[in-house]
Amino acid sequence: MKETNPWFRPNKGGGIALANDGHLQLSFLGVGSAFATTMFQSNLFVIKGPNHVLIDYGSKASVALNRAGLSTLDIENLLVTHSHADHIGGIEEWCLMARYAAPFVKKCARGEYKPNLLTTADYAHILWDSSLRGGLEHSEETQPGRRLALSDYVNIVHGGYLTGYGRPVYHIVVGSGESAIDLKLMRTNHIPDSSASWQSAFYSLGVLIDDRVLVSGDTMFDRELIDVFGSKAEAIFHDCQDYTGGVHASYEELTGLAATHKARTILYHLPDPIKNKFNPKEDGFVGWARSYEQGSYFFD
Ligand SMILES: [Zn+2]
Repeated sequence: MKETNPWFRPNKGGGIALANDGHLQLSFLGVGSAFATTMFQSNLFVIKGPNHVLIDYGSKASVALNRAGLSTLDIENLLVTHSHADHIGGIEEWCLMARYAAPFVKKCARGEYKPNLLTTADYAHILWDSSLRGGLEHSEETQPGRRLALSDYVNIVHGGYLTGYGRPVYHIVVGSGESAIDLKLMRTNHIPDSSASWQSAFYSLGVLIDDRVLVSGDTMFDRELIDVFGSKAEAIFHDCQDYTGGVHASYEELTGLAATHKARTILYHLPDPIKNKFNPKEDGFVGWARSYEQGSYFFD
């Protein structure tokens, strides 16, 4: 079948290389939903020149990473969108490997190697206090009675706050020069299912990359999010579930977007049965997102 997605380039049998010739590249470790038993979890690499960022590291991601020829210790920059296990379930492993395996692999002192956790100040506290602390705080006592903190495992890189978007936006740049990856993190409306807007929602984030590509993260249908951040983007990767209700945008809701939006929208975070129910190309979308095993997305 002829390829109609202008950004997609097939993978010619390899894994994922964490450097390229300088073009913005998105490679999905998986495109599945939290409960998908196929397609792995929706965690993706952003790669540009020598720089990479992994967006989310879920509970099954280390297996997908291994299949791609990489290890947890290869993740130098990790951006976290929210606290569900398909997005953060691998972070304890990432932290423990950095502190306790890296000294053997990278021949460094304990605590000398720290990868970068890209987040906001508010979310770093939530991530530690509500999710990571139980598994990481008591690994060792660096001084009698002193417990470990998240900053003992990783460098916490906070975004600078940007105004003018109608909701909180945080700006992080990875690398420098032409290969820098520009990330704008914006609050989204994912949980609880009764939440009417990002203002009443538990903390969750979407990502605008280089002002060119919007990755929605997990969110309920939010037309304002797409209008403000997606209108000028060349491509929109949007999460999608197969029924209306719950905590994700549904296929039916996204079908109601303007044709100009749909023509730039690729659907990801997919539940197992969705591909048997709908035909996104017939409904005006670019299509279903595909994992690195099939290919990657390049923005030249
Ligand atoms: Zn979620």
